[in-house]
Amino acid sequence: MEPRRPRPRFDPERHRPVLAPLVAELAGAGALDPRGLDRLTKRHPKPGGGLYSKSEIIAGFRAFGGEIPEREFLDRLRLRPVRTLSGVTPVTVLTKPYPCPGTCIFCPSDVRMPKSYLADEPGAQRAEDNRFDPYLQTWNRLDAYRAMGHPVEKVELIVLGGTWSAYPEAYQIWFARRCFEALNDFGAGLDGRPGAGAAPADYAALRPVDGREARRYNDALRPVTERLHASEHSSWEALERAQQRNENAASRCVGLSFETRPDRVTEREVLRLRRLGATKVQLGVQSLSDAVLLANRRGHDVATSRRALRRLREAGFKLHVHWMANLLGATPATDAADFLQLFEDPAFRPDELKVYPCLLVESAPLMEAHERGEWRAYDDAALLDLLTRCLEATPRYCRLTRVVRDFSAHDIVAGTRVANLRELAEREVGRRGGRCADVRGREIRGAAFDAAALRLEATVYATSVGEEHFLEFTTPDDRVVGFLRLSLPERASFVGELGRAAVIREVHVYGMSLAPGAREPERAQHLGLGRALVDEASRRSRRAGFDGLAVISAVGTRAYYRALGFEDGALYQHRALRPAKEPGCLSRSR
Ligand code: SF4
Repeated sequence: MEPRRPRPRFDPERHRPVLAPLVAELAGAGALDPRGLDRLTKRHPKPGGGLYSKSEIIAGFRAFGGEIPEREFLDRLRLRPVRTLSGVTPVTVLTKPYPCPGTCIFCPSDVRMPKSYLADEPGAQRAEDNRFDPYLQTWNRLDAYRAMGHPVEKVELIVLGGTWSAYPEAYQIWFARRCFEALNDFGAGLDGRPGAGAAPADYAALRPVDGREARRYNDALRPVTERLHASEHSSWEALERAQQRNENAASRCVGLSFETRPDRVTEREVLRLRRLGATKVQLGVQSLSDAVLLANRRGHDVATSRRALRRLREAGFKLHVHWMANLLGATPATDAADFLQLFEDPAFRPDELKVYPCLLVESAPLMEAHERGEWRAYDDAALLDLLTRCLEATPRYCRLTRVVRDFSAHDIVAGTRVANLRELAEREVGRRGGRCADVRGREIRGAAFDAAALRLEATVYATSVGEEHFLEFTTPDDRVVGFLRLSLPERASFVGELGRAAVIREVHVYGMSLAPGAREPERAQHLGLGRALVDEASRRSRRAGFDGLAVISAVGTRAYYRALGFEDGALYQHRALRPAKEPGCLSRSR
């Protein structure tokens, strides 16, 4: 397959004679409905044919200037930045193809991609276009977001690909540093792309791997990945310099996640992840049955997953678990019971969850079991019933981020091709008289709300390290506007710096409020909800006998916590707690 070339950048100057009048007319037009916008763009077609896209019109506005502020202009275009309604822009970057220590039989082996990803997945295509270079991926994604009118001040970096912990440390440090440098440069209006990047290996030229062959992904890749390229190295000091610059950069990292396997989560690895700047870990748990893990050659048992989650929790990380249905040896009934265990067992209870029903692809060794008749995909009705039960069983403190992998239909040999399974399952939950209580189903998103009617609620539950308090501001109809995750450990953490401190693992505020009689909704971030949540966490920690509160802050939120009275430690920020004077807490508990 020919590698695709990134599209050339749009140059508004070359279109000035036609584009400038269109921009001027739009700026003066007042509110437009989609038809009005359509009519206007048709009156100013591109000289070579076709119409200007919204991103091209925005580029024109930015190049030629306008009478009105950019935000107002974007409103005219009726851009609804769904991905960034929380004010945080997610930027997904993929590591390069590299051998993975896992031997999981369900895992795709596309040698052009990091293990478990297929070249047709949307994020994977972007990574390939950018030669898996962290700087290019980050910078170009921010550029694309900005072109579409999304904010790029607060960025959540999501690093995907194979098993992060199996990549050489030098590569990890380099990868993280280059992501931070791209954020710093982009925010400062600098473009380091021409000089970016390691010389790419020619992954596209590798012969594809077929799941029926003995020759596997790792063998195919080893010759091109055996040694890191000279540029794929960095020192910790260089990374820390890039992180420090990011603290005050115009595009700040407010969250950073990596994905790895449970058997790689040693105490040392947890500390390394933290030093890289991580705040969240995506962990492939996949099943809570040792027999299923063994049948699928997962290479670790359930006890290992428990241990990994406990270590990550002790270090304050946000836990994003991956769980799979329809693995070899599972049935819809065992899967439903397995899913319930995720929330009944205090060792699991994830903050976020991806549910991946197994989809068979050519390059997965599961092909052999399929051809022997030992594995069958659930039919769509059985899968829909299972996912409906999963949605019903997900508690309010967990965010169910996905319920199916984003594979192209033509890649799927067996398994569902229904793209809107979540929507169908949500509808089915309603039909059965239930409600999706998970965070994603209750997020306020961009809807307006009455700030005076907000309630502060607490859900308290046990975990493997102690007690967890999930604090949330909710509207009268139970939409969540902001939340905080507080861990009150029973014993000292293996992370020396934390000792026996209470730990804030996450603070998230989204949405816009509408004051009674006000014309313009106000961003919830400006209402001080984050501060109020942190104050409530302090009160609760103090009342529980803690004399210190730590926060696993992202590099770009350090300044925010300093302003709230936290002091910098080596890997966390800390606030001393004075003995309790208050009679109690402000929130209602569930
Ligand atoms: S550990 Fe993850 S990436 Fe590696 S083979 Fe298993 S599922 Fe695939």
